Order: sequence, then structure tokens, then C-alpha cells
Amino acid sequence: MKHNSNREGYLNYPISIHKKRIFAQLRLQPDRISILSLYINRHKVIFNPNHYCSICNVKDNDDLFHVFCKCMIYQPLRLAYPTLKSHNVPNRRFFHEFFRRYDCQAIHEICDFIRYAMYLRSFCLNE
Ligand SMILES: [Zn+2]
Repeated sequence: MKHNSNREGYLNYPISIHKKRIFAQLRLQPDRISILSLYINRHKVIFNPNHYCSICNVKDNDDLFHVFCKCMIYQPLRLAYPTLKSHNVPNRRFFHEFFRRYDCQAIHEICDFIRYAMYLRSFCLNE
């Protein structure tokens, strides 16, 4: 069996496999292409970056950058997590860096945020 010394640090963190799966999906999104779907607790969330976000009125693309950094609907939730406040990403070109700077606490916060945000999204979209 091959020993992989380049294994990402977060895989060894004492966090649940559910959060590792969510974080891996977020990290694996291509740098300049918005992710189209995300699986959270067996629920598939589909984004359509060619359309505007349908739960706010700012006319911004329906993608993860909008969810994590811009959408006003998620702002109260965003403020509850210091990691999200400190990860200041100016635009979509730098969004991949959002998931490159992490520690155990950051992963908990990012995963909790996206989980609650997607519950809120489902509620707003009546899914
Ligand atoms: Zn929005």
C-alpha cells in the first residue's frame, strides 16, 4: 500500500466524516467555475450560476461565492461565524482561497454555515 505523505491535513482532524465530505466538495470546486451541485446530508443542492440568486434582489449569480460572501439573506448567519467574517474575499477570482486557509475550527464553522444556509435556501425556495 502506498503511503501518501501529501494527504491534506483536514483529513486527520477530529471532525465528523459528514463535515469532511462537505469541506472536500467545497475545496474541489474548480477555481473559476462555480460549483453546480453540493451534497449535504444526502440532500442535493443545485446552483445555477447562469441565473441570479432567487432569494435576494441584488442580481448576483447563484453560486457559492454569492452564498458565502454576498447574499444578504445569509448575512445574519455569516456574522455568527468568525471564520466567515475574517475570510474576506474581494471577488470570485479569489474565492478558491476561501477553502485553502483553514484549521479545525474554520472547517467546523464553514460546514455549519453552509449546512444552515442550505436549510434556509430550501425553506426560501420551498423545496
Ligand atoms: Zn442572494
